[in-house]
Amino acid sequence: MAIAVDLHLTIFGLVSGLSLVSLLVHLTLRRGSALGWLAAALLCVAIEMLVLRYGAHSTPGIAFVAMLVPAIYYCAAQAMRQGVGLGPANARVALGAVMLTALSLVLMALPVPPTAQYAPFQLAAILVFLDVTLALARKRKRHPLEDGLLALGFIVLAGIIVRVPMFPALVGEPTPWAPVDPAMFDRAFIQFMGLLTSGLALLIVARIVASVIAGYRHSSERDGLTELLNRRAFDALIDKPALSRGVVIMCDIDRFKGINARFGHHAGDEVIRSFARLLSVHGDHAGRIGGEEFALLLLDVGLEEAAERAEAIRSAFDSLRHPAIGPAAQLSASFGVAAFEAGIPVRTAMRRADRALYAAKQSGRNRVAVAGHETALPESVLSAA
Ligand code: GH3
Ligand code: MG
Ligand code: MG
Repeated sequence: MAIAVDLHLTIFGLVSGLSLVSLLVHLTLRRGSALGWLAAALLCVAIEMLVLRYGAHSTPGIAFVAMLVPAIYYCAAQAMRQGVGLGPANARVALGAVMLTALSLVLMALPVPPTAQYAPFQLAAILVFLDVTLALARKRKRHPLEDGLLALGFIVLAGIIVRVPMFPALVGEPTPWAPVDPAMFDRAFIQFMGLLTSGLALLIVARIVASVIAGYRHSSERDGLTELLNRRAFDALIDKPALSRGVVIMCDIDRFKGINARFGHHAGDEVIRSFARLLSVHGDHAGRIGGEEFALLLLDVGLEEAAERAEAIRSAFDSLRHPAIGPAAQLSASFGVAAFEAGIPVRTAMRRADRALYAAKQSGRNRVAVAGHETALPESVLSAA
């Protein structure tokens, strides 16, 4: 038994469901407005389906569609912009779209052919969507989901450009460009756009969810003050067997309690940030282990080179004249360095580096101590074998 499926109502159900999902995800994540714009775009598509189904032959119905179509593409363009982090839309593009739509409404009241009446509002939709698609095409370092979005964007554009001369056929009016069978064109076009709209919506949702997950992962692994790896992420790193040999450097800012006491906690925070910046330019994995304690992991580096790098950080910090604490106050830090071999968890070396750091503190601070070295070390570097 054949079941008659009403295409407009099917697409209406699909896009209004997607609109609801976008709205719920938007309200749950409360992150930017991309999903809010997407929900609005899909809601407009759903309403358009109802108007095309029940009111396409009335002048108010067509006038309503003339306003809905540019609104759909404007909302979709906003969702794409916000979802992939493009800048705000060009105000001139939006203004151009509004004027083109108004022109269509004026032409609808005049005795001109339907194709001419409907062309301007469709050009408005093309304008806003072309603007965002080109902006996405120009974006450097696109996420794979954004490549998919770009490809679909161009297909949607091709679809709405092809539709311009044929639009009257969709609302049952004559046009010299009408396809052989307008009813078949209507069905094929609505199916095609329904699929593309859903694909576009899913890609935008997926892109936003992916960036939310990446954001959560970043904040679960990074220290909020310095952006270095936090204790948990650094622990995870050193509990795994090392992929190559290397060196771990433990560092601790000297007499930091005094800095806080003299210049305030805020100045102390600034000093911590400066030290973290020095570390991050000197090593592959820098972590903040505690308040003013840090660790640096250097892969494929020997003890001698690592000691030299620790010495370079020490010396740079020692000569730093930090604006937050004034030129007279002296900053310094102590360092403990220990090597590890491939295949062994770094944590064992970390304990030795910690003992070397303790030795550096004991012997006067503002120095580098190396655990169990055999090679020649820079003169300023202390052996803590
Ligand atoms: P030492 O040379 O022996 O390392 O002395 P110290 O004063 O640096 O060491 P101690 O461990 O006694 O004190 C560390 C201080 O760091 C105590 C704490 O108030 C401060 N601190 C910890 N975390 C932060 C932070 O995020 N910001 C600021 N401003 N201070 C912090
Ligand atoms: Mg300290
Ligand atoms: Mg400390």
